[in-house]
Amino acid sequence: MDASLHAPRAGVVGGGMMGLAVARELTGRGWQVQLFDGAADLGGLTASVDYGPFTWDRFYHCVLQTDTALLDLLDVIGLGAALRWERTTSGFYHQGRTYSLGSVAEFLRFAPLRFHDRLRLGAFIAACGRVFDGDALEQVSCRDVLRRWCGERVWNVVWRPLLRAKLGPAADSISARFIWDTINRLNSARSGIRKQESIGYVAGGYGRVLDALGDHLRRRGVGLHTNAHVHAVRGEARGGATLVTEDGPVDFDHVFVTANNHAAARMLEAEGEFAARLGGVEFMGVVVGGAVLRRALSPHYILNVSDPSIELTGLIGTSNLVRDGSFAPYHLYYLPRYLVQADPDWQRDEAAWRAFFMDQLQKLAPDLDPADVVSLQVSSARHVQPVLDCGYRERMPGLATPRPNVWLVNTSQCFQGPVNVDLVLRHARNALDELAPRLSLPAPALTT
Ligand SMILES: Cc1cc2nc3c(=O)[nH]c(=O)nc-3n(C[C@H](O)[C@H](O)[C@H](O)COP(=O)(O)OP(=O)(O)OC[C@H]3O[C@@H](n4cnc5c(N)ncnc54)[C@H](O)[C@@H]3O)c2cc1C
Repeated sequence: MDASLHAPRAGVVGGGMMGLAVARELTGRGWQVQLFDGAADLGGLTASVDYGPFTWDRFYHCVLQTDTALLDLLDVIGLGAALRWERTTSGFYHQGRTYSLGSVAEFLRFAPLRFHDRLRLGAFIAACGRVFDGDALEQVSCRDVLRRWCGERVWNVVWRPLLRAKLGPAADSISARFIWDTINRLNSARSGIRKQESIGYVAGGYGRVLDALGDHLRRRGVGLHTNAHVHAVRGEARGGATLVTEDGPVDFDHVFVTANNHAAARMLEAEGEFAARLGGVEFMGVVVGGAVLRRALSPHYILNVSDPSIELTGLIGTSNLVRDGSFAPYHLYYLPRYLVQADPDWQRDEAAWRAFFMDQLQKLAPDLDPADVVSLQVSSARHVQPVLDCGYRERMPGLATPRPNVWLVNTSQCFQGPVNVDLVLRHARNALDELAPRLSLPAPALTT
């Protein structure tokens, strides 16, 4: 008899990396899975865009040596050999000048800080993972920890502008765990006595990862439905759950919603305490200019920007990481501008954003000829990073929803610092481990 006839049936809402990871975890546990995404392509934030001369990720993505869940996944889907590791450098843009921070020696010469401030900052960054306990830092303000350990000048020149560029008005309320996780993640990209940075990417970009992951899931029997916006999800007290798309209702034993809180609240018709939990999470969004240029702008993978005249978090030099000719003869840079939900800049149209990014490019590189800009692609996402303020973990939404047999597995539950694909994969696995004893199935119908 076909075992799949008796396999429990799961519906997954959302085909970003979280939904794809949940689908993979479920098939590994013997479930029959159908996944639904409202967009034309799978991938969510990792999807690709056409830049003109080439197609690449719409948002920049790199891989770190400590991304073990991601590295395992790449092996399983046959892309282990497509990983490339490159030595990269970081820089710092301050008051119209760029400082290279590619080595300890360069860091010690970092002129915007006095020598003893540089030592203090360096000691803090080096010791961060060992001195502090991340869980304890969830209750402490980031601003207080950084001012106490690094001093007022380091706070004003380095940390405050960087945090404000990434988090806007939320910078002052963020918990110290956020910076602890960020520093530990960045430290994990550096090794050896000279602390040389080494960062990875998949040849072909995330588009290739999504193709391979999609094939892997289809081989495991997962139905992948795109252009399939889910309007509503209902749970049945007597067993089962139903999701509703344009094509009508589809019944499952359980439904897993991986879309963001805003979308989840609508499809679950959230009210009361559940609605307050979902709505209580402030999410940072981002608008990114992806610029294809005829000339190089900076030799760094990340140029951190701490300069009041520039309204970007940084300049991401993807062509300084991807050096395999994918962009030749051009260069690809990303210009991220993070925004809180209430920021009036969300009202800007695409033409206004293009003008903004051109202006920012010319401020960063006054000698840039507009004719050197081959294409400028504007991509935006409203729900990227929960604002992890003090006590966030106690307030964040749990996996259970008020709808029977409907579960929430999304990035608002990723309280461990900046959300990234590795964290998403680990969250999907941990969530299903935790839910396993609660995934009751309807009793089989009695046959005579
Ligand atoms: C600028 C930027 C840089 C980043 N850099 C890195 C990096 O260097 N390294 C790294 O590892 N990570 C990075 N990330 C983070 C990473 O991309 C995300 O953490 C991850 O992709 C989140 O996946 P997700 O599935 O949770 O969310 P999403 O990708 O947002 O997926 C959610 C999906 O749900 C779908 N959906 C929503 N509502 C509905 C509905 N009603 N019906 C059906 N479908 C619906 C959407 O269409 C979407 O596809 C970066 C992200 C950004 C924005």
